[in-house]
Amino acid sequence: MVNNQVETVNKLIELVNISGNSITSSRRRIIAEIARQEGLFTSEELAKALPNIGRATVYRTLRLLYEIGTICRINIVDEHSYYAISLSDHHHHTVCKKCNKIEEINLIGFEKDLNQYEKNINGEILSHNLEIYIICGECD
Ligand SMILES: [Zn+2]
Ligand SMILES: [Zn+2]
Ligand SMILES: [Zn+2]
Repeated sequence: MVNNQVETVNKLIELVNISGNSITSSRRRIIAEIARQEGLFTSEELAKALPNIGRATVYRTLRLLYEIGTICRINIVDEHSYYAISLSDHHHHTVCKKCNKIEEINLIGFEKDLNQYEKNINGEILSHNLEIYIICGECD
């Protein structure tokens, strides 16, 4: 494992601990596999890379990591949800429609605007989901 992968593993484990969840040996192996991923991966791909760990355990761990904000779920217009390690606080993604490359983007003005809309909504905003689809510079 290269150095930055070790760093990623340690960071994810620390965040799981901080969230009050325990690190089991399966979780450690799942986290190590996630750290090896470059860019997007699906839950199916992750489960396939870990044949000795039950699918349900992989999916549950993925869900936990998502819920504590250490990985992102990105919607690309097909049947799969894709995941990627989260590199910063609340952010959105650009997704290249040709090569599927994603990059993080902060939409600070948009977040502020969205709060303004809350008064027009009959209820409380819990979360939101926004992907920005592009043709990236390399594909252009
Ligand atoms: Zn992200
Ligand atoms: Zn591209
Ligand atoms: Zn946002």
